[in-house]
Amino acid sequence: MNWDVEAGCQSIDPEVFFPDRPADRAAAAKAICRGCPVRTQCLEFAIDARLDHGVWGGLTGAERRSLRRSRQRRARRAATAA
Ligand code: SF4
Repeated sequence: MNWDVEAGCQSIDPEVFFPDRPADRAAAAKAICRGCPVRTQCLEFAIDARLDHGVWGGLTGAERRSLRRSRQRRARRAATAA
């Protein structure tokens, strides 16, 4: 299934998701993402594709990098414990 056909941002100006000053303006994009039916798929796509710019799946690039590192640490700990 192409999850992007259900994207809640299809009719929104893409500039909203790529704010010049992410800390100040990401809130508008995040509010749109909160109500999106494909938020999880969008987030996983952006993490897998290592998209570091813009708001995808409700997270900024920095937040996605942090989540990816956290998941990697957890996976390493699980592998070590096994
Ligand atoms: S989660 Fe946000 S960026 Fe992703 S498709 Fe939905 S509205 Fe668009």
